Amino acid sequence: MICFLIRVESWIENYTRFMFRTLRNWSCLLYLTMIDLYLSELYNFSTQGVWKNIINIKTELEKNGCSPDEIFKHNIKSGETTLFWNDVWIGDTKLKHKYPNLFALEPEKNCTIAQKIKDRNTPWKWRSCPLAAGLSQQLCDLYSDFTALKLTTGADHWTCRLTTDGKYTVEALRKKIDQLPPTAPSVSWYKEIPIKVTCFTWRAALERIPTATSLSQRGVNIDSTLCSSCIGMAEDSNHILLHCPYATMIWEKIFKWCDTNIPSAPNIKEMLQVMAKWGWDSKKKKRLMIICYAMIWGLWKLRNDRIFRGSFISPSSGVDHIKSIAYTWIKYRGNDVICDWENWTVSPFSSCSW
Ligand SMILES: [Zn+2]
Repeated sequence: MICFLIRVESWIENYTRFMFRTLRNWSCLLYLTMIDLYLSELYNFSTQGVWKNIINIKTELEKNGCSPDEIFKHNIKSGETTLFWNDVWIGDTKLKHKYPNLFALEPEKNCTIAQKIKDRNTPWKWRSCPLAAGLSQQLCDLYSDFTALKLTTGADHWTCRLTTDGKYTVEALRKKIDQLPPTAPSVSWYKEIPIKVTCFTWRAALERIPTATSLSQRGVNIDSTLCSSCIGMAEDSNHILLHCPYATMIWEKIFKWCDTNIPSAPNIKEMLQVMAKWGWDSKKKKRLMIICYAMIWGLWKLRNDRIFRGSFISPSSGVDHIKSIAYTWIKYRGNDVICDWENWTVSPFSSCSW
């Protein structure tokens, strides 16, 4: 518990400092806001407030394999708004990471560059002497790192590392993100959902289920790669489970039954990311997630029945089939109390007690 509180306190301190420095540099704030709006489009962040989203940027970028320090760097002028140890201003890393032993001896860990080296004749204060701790070589290396730095007048400002002129552009960030390795889909593991269904959903998000298109791409000789339902579009996992008019009708009916809006996403992978960020009551979120997984699984089963058994059922009957799948999972695989079938078909939430 104490460790948790320390971590929370550290988090608040770090982000308070981050916000404070952000406010002191409006160009950085503008960049972050632009990235926020851009990533909101790209990854469907929850839009619960610009400030919250700005704070989330660092986490979201790092989650996708890209640190804000890789995008921006400080351009040093007076050194009064750049932190000596905690900002990236020499090379690609913070000095506290490059010289952790010296940083441990630093009494003013949030000092600025100006405070540290404006008057180069003033000896630095340490908690204890670095020379006595055997850090003379690190101290020499640290001094040599900024020997050439000349502080001038004017405010420190941010420049973008992704462009040659240092100006931020959406195009540069897009190229950077496109070059990042793909991240794993955000599947949710609930015991109500059979493992085979969770695995199937994970594979569907990666386009690794045996659709006509993927089989054809692997050299399997098949008659047609078109969808067996709408006969107009290529059959891949995103089409079968999301974009086919048959699937779209079922999604609309299911979400109308759940009395909520369909999340907007271009593919299964991003749909799972949106679902993972749903900020409702945890029990309601869990139930809706189970229904969504039942829908993905049900659509796949209906597709197989259509192709291999010649059995076609209407979207309305498909909806009933999916409702029964979710009902069975919750009733027989979980611990939640669930209502009777008649009330379940009216609403999956309001008639249930918890
Ligand atoms: Zn179709």
